[in-house]
Amino acid sequence: MVDVAVVGTGYVGLVTGASLARVGHRVTCVDRDRERVAGLREGRMPFYEPGLEELVAREVGSGKLSFAEELDAAVGRADVVFIAVGTPQGEGGAADLSNVSHVARGIGRALAGSARRARPLVVANKSTVPVGSGDYVSALIREGADEVGGTRPPEGVRFGVASNPEFLREGSAVYDSLFPDRIVVGAEEDWVVGVMRELYGPVIEQGFSVEMDPRPRVTVPFVVTDLASAEMIKYAANAFLATKVSFINEISDLCELTGADVGSVATGIGLDGRIGPRFLNAGIGWGGSCLPKDVAALRAVAREHHHETGLLDAAVAVNDRRRGRVISKLQHDLGALSGRRVALLGLAFKPNTDDLREAPSLDIAAELSSLGAKVVGYDPVAAKAASRTAPDLRVAFDPHEALEGAHAAVVVTEWSEVRNLDLRRAASLMREPRLLVDGRNAIDPAAAREAGLLYRGFGRG
Ligand code: NAD
Repeated sequence: MVDVAVVGTGYVGLVTGASLARVGHRVTCVDRDRERVAGLREGRMPFYEPGLEELVAREVGSGKLSFAEELDAAVGRADVVFIAVGTPQGEGGAADLSNVSHVARGIGRALAGSARRARPLVVANKSTVPVGSGDYVSALIREGADEVGGTRPPEGVRFGVASNPEFLREGSAVYDSLFPDRIVVGAEEDWVVGVMRELYGPVIEQGFSVEMDPRPRVTVPFVVTDLASAEMIKYAANAFLATKVSFINEISDLCELTGADVGSVATGIGLDGRIGPRFLNAGIGWGGSCLPKDVAALRAVAREHHHETGLLDAAVAVNDRRRGRVISKLQHDLGALSGRRVALLGLAFKPNTDDLREAPSLDIAAELSSLGAKVVGYDPVAAKAASRTAPDLRVAFDPHEALEGAHAAVVVTEWSEVRNLDLRRAASLMREPRLLVDGRNAIDPAAAREAGLLYRGFGRG
């Protein structure tokens, strides 16, 4: 068993902490947000993530998971401290590292103030940070220690920094944490890698039993690199995924011009093992809390080095045009949008999450409102959060309420409630021309037409 502290109880920190407790470690999750910590202690999740509430309840009950507002005691006990705080997009697209800096200094102060430490401490960074941040974190830990004692961490106390990027997907974060495709650890010292290998042992060996595991028990690849490469792997992975989606969207536009069907094309190319079938869904494009900010951060790093990123620039440009394609499809069939009622089906940036960061729905709603349309948005989970984020947006908790009297509906997020919509009922509730713009190619066009809807997908011939 390893003693772990996780700083930041967001999508990454809380899921990581609960999963590590699940595989046998003792974990304290720390957050500076007092309300959040108080809620967690009472079993209230700060966000929606399938399976998380049950997992947290189970591990709190087993005594392996607890919550704290202050770093000191948790760092004093820990063998590994994870930094899992937000790194939002800052000025000029660069990652804002102020939360990471704050935590690193705090760890330094806690280390210097802790008399007990005979064991070394690993500080593992899970926040997505630019290449070079590992060294920066080390420097800040030392600075924090200096602030307290005027000395470095006490004689004999060692700490080492690891980069341990996170690849979980919101909506299946618990599953991804317990059954990852790979674990990446970047470090400059062997003992640091050794501690991380021990920590992840049960996940690597898949040596724990859970009810939800449908996969054969294969060993999870443990990829060891230097610090800089681990930091770059995270950005490269997200930049690649963003580019892949923009690529299929460009092909989708060409399909529309030539009469080909992008779904068939995606199947045909995706079966090529070199390409792979995932992330080939044409439509509204990428959004969310990671892809836009990580691509922006990578481009900002390139600019610092006076390096051009033609491919990434194009991926962003293609994606920026996707929201406009929705508007032009609406205008094509409705003419002027002023006074027209448009239902947005799905508001979260993807299904099974309530996360609205960089959600396409918010851009589309704002653009439609500026053109005089009356917009009402439905989401099974994120509607409440959406009404706080965009107070002008009317929200509905039932899709039929959103569709009532609408001239057009847009499938923005392919929740199962949206995929499985009763199309005849939808058509009966809507007003002429009963336009359905399917931004995720999630609805069967023939069924929609049969139900009396005017169907428009993306790249579907
Ligand atoms: P989040 O915004 O959901 O949560 C961040 C948490 O950190 C909040 O609870 C906040 O109160 C806390 N926090 C901030 N500063 C703090 C401080 N000084 N001390 C203690 N707590 C503090 O963020 P997230 O989505 O979990 O992302 C965290 C990091 O992981 C980011 O760098 C992100 O890019 C990366 N990441 C996110 C995902 C994802 O799907 N969300 C996936 C992979 C990587």
